[in-house]
Amino acid sequence: KETKNQMLVIFGASGDLTARKLIPSLFNLYVAKQLPKNFVVLGASRSNLSDGEFRKKVVYESPYLKSKIEDLKENYVKGFADMLFYEDLGDDYTKNYERLSKRIAKLNDTNGTENNYMFYLSTPPSLYEPIAKNLADAGLSSQEEGWKRLIVEKPFGYSLETAKELNKGLQKYFNESQIYRIDHYLGKETVQNLLVTRFSNSIFEPLWNRNYIHHVEITNAESVGVEKRGGYYDKSGALRDMFQNHLLQIVSLVVMEPPIGNEPEDIRNEKVKALKSLRIMKDDESLFENTIRAQYVASEINGEKIKGYREEDGVDPNSTTETYAAVKFFVDNWRWKDVPFYVRTAKRMPTKVTEVIIHFKTPHHQIFKDSGLSSKDNKLIIRIQPDEGILIKFGVKVPGQGFKVERANLDFYYSSLAETYVMEAYERLLLDAMQGDATLYARADEVEAAWEFVDPILDYWKNGKDIRMYGYAAGVWGPENADELIDDLGFWRNPGQN
Ligand code: NAP
Repeated sequence: KETKNQMLVIFGASGDLTARKLIPSLFNLYVAKQLPKNFVVLGASRSNLSDGEFRKKVVYESPYLKSKIEDLKENYVKGFADMLFYEDLGDDYTKNYERLSKRIAKLNDTNGTENNYMFYLSTPPSLYEPIAKNLADAGLSSQEEGWKRLIVEKPFGYSLETAKELNKGLQKYFNESQIYRIDHYLGKETVQNLLVTRFSNSIFEPLWNRNYIHHVEITNAESVGVEKRGGYYDKSGALRDMFQNHLLQIVSLVVMEPPIGNEPEDIRNEKVKALKSLRIMKDDESLFENTIRAQYVASEINGEKIKGYREEDGVDPNSTTETYAAVKFFVDNWRWKDVPFYVRTAKRMPTKVTEVIIHFKTPHHQIFKDSGLSSKDNKLIIRIQPDEGILIKFGVKVPGQGFKVERANLDFYYSSLAETYVMEAYERLLLDAMQGDATLYARADEVEAAWEFVDPILDYWKNGKDIRMYGYAAGVWGPENADELIDDLGFWRNPGQN
């Protein structure tokens, strides 16, 4: 695909995301010669920085680029840094953008970026709509000359209502086709590989349904706590921060029907349909039975004292924000009728891992009953991080007399494709947006469908009766009660187990 000459304008350019992800991703694209011939980055924020100071901050003195630029020639790094510029927005993002638009026009004229502008909103979400409005007022959303795109960071809303407001707010100034809602999980190779595994092989899809699948499990575990983000996290929680966006995106790829082609809208249409088929839990009884929330409590790992969630900086000592969320749900469509989905996400787990586990049913008629293997031993595991790969677990005969069966593994790891350069998520997504490919970006109706499912859970956790908040020690797999959620099996498959 062609990457046209263009300018990337980053709002909130003095912030963490710009330094930690955006500039390093652009640098990787520069090294890989993927940037267009004429390319300019204009950082915009209230902080008072000159072009030189901005370059120093995000390139020359950036801890995130240090190891990448150490061995490179000075001139080569300068070639990248010289593409970066900075505009001080004054004391407010909501003022008019006369000065900013003049700077953009000037950089456009001198650098040949052909009026193609990508605006990246990396600010607090309350500024998304005001920035979109100011851009439109300054004539910067009009596509009469060149294209204009808007990349919006998560969170997209705080609830269904606020997500709808945000979508409406942005759509007043930009068309939906100009809006790119970034979900960095979709930039991960293994998440995209879910599509390829399912739809470019004929061995999985015939089994991918209620006739052969017993249940689906998705685990997202982080070993860290809230770190320095206590204040932000306490207003969000595991369900909003991870489940509504990243995990439901993964669910939609597991659940979706085969798209008619690989055009962005072919795939996005099927994802929306999948999300709309999740059974929304409406009554307190099913919300009580099918959801579990918990917080990590003060504990010790190898002699090291770990603060409980409520003692973390920025967290309310009486907080009821969950750091662990587990949800059981069903998908109301032909393919998935009666197949339970179990999805959990948590902080302070024993390890960092994200994986999808497809548990296949026990054979209808078992002739090797005393073989030593328990039921449901056929599993397909899609490991999203770390050690990205695909693992298949199945039974084989133990050599010798009789028919003792043992579990064998067929494992594929991405790392074995040693020659292939695996792009980082932001790198891939930025390049896609630069090329106008929205396949891996969330559409407005997709985001709303996900909120529609999550809203009643959030509401129940806030106002419901009998709602419990469990505690768990750092370094364990959450509260024991969560195992009860997994019906007849009675336990989650913790990564590292067979
Ligand atoms: P950040 O470090 O706080 O940076 C945001 C920038 O926005 C600040 O540098 C600040 O620049 C500007 N800003 C304007 N008004 C502000 C206000 N009232 N309070 C704070 N900052 C204000 O945040 P970030 O981590 O870069 O995140 C940016 C966006 O990306 C957020 O929406 C966040 O949710 C999202 N996000 C971040 C990450 C991540 O890894 N960091 C991951 C996913 C999503 P000036 O003061 O110079 O104007």
